[in-house]
Amino acid sequence: MRQQIAAANWKMNLTYVEGQQLLNDILAENVEPKDNHAVIFGIPFPYLMMANEKVNTLKNLYVAAQNCSNKKSGAYTGEVSVGMLKSLNLKYCIIGHSERREYFNETNLELSEKLDLLLGAGMKPIFCCGEPLSIREEGSQNAYVEKQLKESLFHLSAEDMKKVVIAYEPIWAIGTGKTATTAQAQEIHAYIRSVIANQYGAEVADMVPILYGGSVKANNAKELFACPDVDGGLVGGASLVAMDFVEIIRALK
Ligand code: 13P
Repeated sequence: MRQQIAAANWKMNLTYVEGQQLLNDILAENVEPKDNHAVIFGIPFPYLMMANEKVNTLKNLYVAAQNCSNKKSGAYTGEVSVGMLKSLNLKYCIIGHSERREYFNETNLELSEKLDLLLGAGMKPIFCCGEPLSIREEGSQNAYVEKQLKESLFHLSAEDMKKVVIAYEPIWAIGTGKTATTAQAQEIHAYIRSVIANQYGAEVADMVPILYGGSVKANNAKELFACPDVDGGLVGGASLVAMDFVEIIRALK
């Protein structure tokens, strides 16, 4: 069975002490992910090292950055490079979150550059995609997401594609409490997998975890994750509450 993932995205929330406490509270629950499970904490840059020190000796628990630069190194004040993340022994990095696309004008081309840097460093990208409400309302979400995938991912070799985690996050469901129905989630996840299969073959497509994000909560995670093409979730608000996130971890199939 392909890997199932519960990923937290803290976004720009919590102080250092609050972040420490949240991790301590979650780890105190002995979540012990199964062999085919991974639990990933998407943490603000200044807390990455603290978080990684807490989880790096625990099986199938990981820390992710929430972004990285598309430049390798040099005079880019305020940016954080893949090399810096790698030097902290981080394995994962979220890229292309809709908030970064919207507020920081990230393009599919820049994301393809971030992917290359991450994969080149032996790290795993969690690549976010997903459509705004207007696109969903006109029914063209499949074509919209397919373009995001093609323009950022499809220059990769099949070997590299196997290392990518995809997070489908419909923008209209993020932070709104309006979750996609299981039918909507399954339909577009299956579509995403078929697009990957057309490009890379069924074997590769079958290996790529596709997470759902957008108002995943303790009380809806189980039914969302039960969909055959939903391989876990990328969780914002509910990942800031220890027992809610623990319940979401326990909802993985
Ligand atoms: P919410 O779970 O708060 O809707 O956020 C989802 C998200 O954007 C995760 O990356």
